[in-house]
Amino acid sequence: MDSILAKIIQRDPEQKEFHQAVQEVMETVRPVLERNPEFRKQAILERIVEPERVIMFRVPWMDDQGQVHVNRGFRVEMNSAIGPYKGGLRFHPSVTLSIIKFLASEQVFKNSLTTLQMGGGKGGADFDPKGRSDAEVMRFCQAFMAELQRHIGPDTDVPAGDIGVGAREIGYLFGMYKKLRNEFTGVLTGKSLAWGGSLIRPEATGYGVVYFAAEMLGTRGETLEGKTCLVSGSGNVAQFTAEKLLELGGKVLTLSDSSGYIFDEEGIDAEKLEHVKDIKNIRRGRIREYCEKYPQAIYVETDPGLDYNPIWTHSADCAMPSATQNEINEKDAQTMINNGVQLVCEGANMPSSPSAVDIFVENHILYGPSKAANAGGVAVSGLEMAQNSMRLKWPREEVDSRLKQIMHCIHTTCVDASAEYGLQGNYAAGANIAGFVNVVNAMLDQGLV
Ligand code: GLU
Repeated sequence: MDSILAKIIQRDPEQKEFHQAVQEVMETVRPVLERNPEFRKQAILERIVEPERVIMFRVPWMDDQGQVHVNRGFRVEMNSAIGPYKGGLRFHPSVTLSIIKFLASEQVFKNSLTTLQMGGGKGGADFDPKGRSDAEVMRFCQAFMAELQRHIGPDTDVPAGDIGVGAREIGYLFGMYKKLRNEFTGVLTGKSLAWGGSLIRPEATGYGVVYFAAEMLGTRGETLEGKTCLVSGSGNVAQFTAEKLLELGGKVLTLSDSSGYIFDEEGIDAEKLEHVKDIKNIRRGRIREYCEKYPQAIYVETDPGLDYNPIWTHSADCAMPSATQNEINEKDAQTMINNGVQLVCEGANMPSSPSAVDIFVENHILYGPSKAANAGGVAVSGLEMAQNSMRLKWPREEVDSRLKQIMHCIHTTCVDASAEYGLQGNYAAGANIAGFVNVVNAMLDQGLV
């Protein structure tokens, strides 16, 4: 296993995030490989870490002043053993092939945990939508889809949103796909309700995170009622995490964006959360604007020189990191433990560094890894695909109850898989083992392809 990892690093030495994701899975599936020596002969590990297909392309587009820009577009089609490639698109200046490969790899195991028929993929571009007009975003999306359209399809590869890609972008992307291919199909998820979207899809990731947190607390006979919670991020995942936490009696103390974070000791209640949605979704503003209306809250600007993330220095019962990868390092994790955090449930993908995860696991706190805890988003994408295939729309209650049921099953699966290998309480190991075994069995059934 070590030599496989060494080879991956040697091949693409700059792909740090991808190595991190691969290493994390490899370490926890070691006992599965020991129990199944035939996996070695089948080179299962080597196959699973190598994307089935990597697409990289030029995205030329024109800004409002007539200046042409060139961005780099990506789609990594990682694994299709259990269904068409499925996973979001990220538009953010930090996007590289390493970031997309790590996300695609996480997506394979996450999608497998949902029990729905979805393989794993991910895509995006190093485009920064911040400060861009609607017209510029539309032209970028159209240029991006002009190339991507030849690689995707409702039974081949079904992209969705991620950081920087929400309802507006999905609309422009869908419009261009439809025009170029002359077909109205469920090729993207996260669509608007009026033209094929599913109820509860916008809420799904955040609601799912909270359902998973409630399941974990349930194993200790506890609930979210009265629990103080640190939530990072202020996008789609953070907003609906906060919304569901409030509904279940939790108290939300923080929210953030890339510029800084707000801390409201009185709690961000439903009315304040509506204001956050207005700032972020309608005005496309910054989280610091919260303090203009609620001056009792404090705003702390991001300081890139710090070796810790100050949002995690506040005392609370629970933390739901919902911003981005590696937002919790070893120091942050130790601070959280010292401050009495008993539960960390991940809304973002891979927000905790490997040493932070070790600290959570060693201290026996309830740690819900992203590939299990945030799988509600892609699960409802799977339900959107099912509804599109039937050309039907399920009511809100039906989608929500299916989401709740799926999160319950993912929780049980993680508990059972960790127990099977004597790793009780280790959700990180449970999620990796269960996700991995499903995909591997499908690959073995389908032969060497
Ligand atoms: N980007 C989301 C994720 O990380 C959703 C993907 C999807 O709905 O396909 O799971």
